[in-house]
Amino acid sequence: MEYKVKDISLASRGRQLIYWAERNMPVLMRIRERFERERPLAGITIAASLHVTKETAVLVRTLARGGARVALVPSNPLSTQDEVAAALAEEGVAVYAWRGMNEREYYNAIGFALSFSPDITMDDGADLTASVHKLAYGASDDTVQHIRETAGSIDLAKLASRIRGGTEETTTGVIRLKALHREGKLLYPIIAVNESYTKYLFDNRYGTGQSTWDGILRATNMLVAGKVVVVAGYGWVGRGIATRARGLGARRVIVTEVNPVRALEAVFDGFEVMPISRAAEIGDVFITATGDVRVISLDHILRMKDGAILANAGHFNVEIDVEGLERVARSKRTIRPYLEEYELPNGKRVYLIGEGRLVNLVAAEGHPSEVMDMSFANQALAAEYLVKNKLGVGVYKLPDELDVEVAKLKLSSMGIEIDELTEEQRRYITSWELGT
Ligand code: NAD
Ligand code: SAH
Repeated sequence: MEYKVKDISLASRGRQLIYWAERNMPVLMRIRERFERERPLAGITIAASLHVTKETAVLVRTLARGGARVALVPSNPLSTQDEVAAALAEEGVAVYAWRGMNEREYYNAIGFALSFSPDITMDDGADLTASVHKLAYGASDDTVQHIRETAGSIDLAKLASRIRGGTEETTTGVIRLKALHREGKLLYPIIAVNESYTKYLFDNRYGTGQSTWDGILRATNMLVAGKVVVVAGYGWVGRGIATRARGLGARRVIVTEVNPVRALEAVFDGFEVMPISRAAEIGDVFITATGDVRVISLDHILRMKDGAILANAGHFNVEIDVEGLERVARSKRTIRPYLEEYELPNGKRVYLIGEGRLVNLVAAEGHPSEVMDMSFANQALAAEYLVKNKLGVGVYKLPDELDVEVAKLKLSSMGIEIDELTEEQRRYITSWELGT
């Protein structure tokens, strides 16, 4: 089996990391046991573009035990855990991943995944799915050229027509794919895993809430107590980060928003809300979590205090204007792993973590296994659902029964029991006749 990883001799360390993840992913392990018996993915090839982490390895092993052949490539150039990539390669998974890819290598990886002529695409951020569509529509930009370099003899223009369906892990990926569908250009059905309750309410909120701080602390070893923290965006990710900032003792937690309802929620949750132009002058630590572009602009950065720390937890590296910062900085140097110091033209210094890419996956290990347990249970069930059901082109949520099943399994793995409706209660809350 072919693979390209940083160092295959890291495999035994990778196996230990995966073992630790498996211990903490009981729902996915339950699904794996069933997949081993039922083999629902027999004969199916899956091209997966996901962060190559120990948790993703547990998903990949589960899909493989269900009968699938999996080609795994990264969904971010800086998030691969090289030990994990080596362990998977050694056990026969087609992996093309290492930490620190340049843009060409990143799209070469996508070409490698597509060379397996997948039945299903599994994506995080929609780079893989968007590439399949670009190829179908005959685009010829640099990314397409890089894909062709590794795709072998596959007819890339025809790939989309043989793909049964795809899955998408994250908010921004779902937004991109819905936009594609709105333009009438989506070519196969997508299951928006991010829209399962057992995904976004937990992964985006509690997962990112904790792992973002894990990344910031590993990169800086700073004390949060006493600091002024600014969180841009009060979606599921932003509220997780803001809540954990408070728990770590931040002196003030300021939220910036563009959506009036969400801004109001932040106020009623007890956070200060103000425009970023004002917050820029006050904050010690800035964290973006919007999925938007240039939320912290160069102008904002130039107003910041000397020593301000900048990190991004939203998609891609465009939420903070890193390009602008690079352009005007008098000098730049690495202070610690994933911590860059920029000297600004006004003499102040600011510190950027992980090149402005996802701080939790670049400077730490991403979400803890316990939370990825539910996200990836949804991914495994989505793959099975695509095989068992013929869907028309569209962006779908997984059926509620499956979502609820994941919640039940998680509760049961934690030894937590809940009540059941009595027949009388069921009737009462579903009828219109019964009142005062
Ligand atoms: P969401 O849509 O629930 O929230 C985004 C919020 O940002 C919205 O409330 C929106 O009004 C706000 N916003 C948009 N532009 C803004 C601006 N210029 N200034 C201030 N606020 C602005 O999305 P979410 O689920 O919270 O996800 C946010 C981002 O994080 C997405 O890009 C998603 O893909 C990514 N994500 C990252 C991780 C991770 O592991 N780091 C995990 C899950 C999601
Ligand atoms: N490709 C984009 C997408 C954002 S990634 C980018 O790199 O910028 C955000 C997603 O990462 C989340 O939806 C979450 O499910 C996933 N993630 C977080 N921790 C993870 C982990 N430990 N292993 C695999 N995926 C993880």
